[in-house]
Amino acid sequence: MTRTASRNELVRKPADAAQAASVNMTSLTGVQDAARHCRACPLWENATQTVFGEGPDDARLIFVGEQPGDAEDIAGLPFVGPAGRIFNRALAEAGIERKEVYVTNAVKHFKFEQRGKRRLHKRPDAGEIEICRWWLSRELEIIEPSLVVALGATAARSLSGKPMPIERSRGELLPFGSNGGRMLVTVHPSYLLRLREENDRAREFGRFVDDLRIAAAA
Ligand code: SF4
Repeated sequence: MTRTASRNELVRKPADAAQAASVNMTSLTGVQDAARHCRACPLWENATQTVFGEGPDDARLIFVGEQPGDAEDIAGLPFVGPAGRIFNRALAEAGIERKEVYVTNAVKHFKFEQRGKRRLHKRPDAGEIEICRWWLSRELEIIEPSLVVALGATAARSLSGKPMPIERSRGELLPFGSNGGRMLVTVHPSYLLRLREENDRAREFGRFVDDLRIAAAA
């Protein structure tokens, strides 16, 4: 679906979208309502809808992915596609109930390249991550989790505000925010989908579950 944006819509900041929506920005539903109207970067234009986070507003654990994929863009929910299914399986193996955690993305609109009928994922750039970080910050402020898990490099960059090589800090509990929170960095579950060899997939899935177990224990 392609829509035409006015110039004003394209230069609008996330904060302006929030103000224009006139909603209670101290609640997750209010922030979610406001995010539906965000036009702060061009990604909204070809996406179906804003895909906001999902989960309880008192969750102790937040998972942050990269951006919605094709299935998420259509459903309007995070982690419901193929990567979401692997994520759910890994959560279950690590003893984490998905309904007890909050799951969101660093970027709230699906970025893709149209190839015939297929929409191929495109990684959001640094500018898009930085602009959309405003919404993630609102989610973190309201929920105040004990632990934030960055799933992949985009999430790690958004949460830390700078590029962060995954393997260097993977699985470590790092300080996060000013309220004694912590952050753990691991891979995005879509990485597991891209591995061709079954042995590699099994090994990396095990490492991913090990990281989630560290999160569960923390
Ligand atoms: S990707 Fe984020 S900043 Fe860009 S339009 Fe969507 S909600 Fe706004």
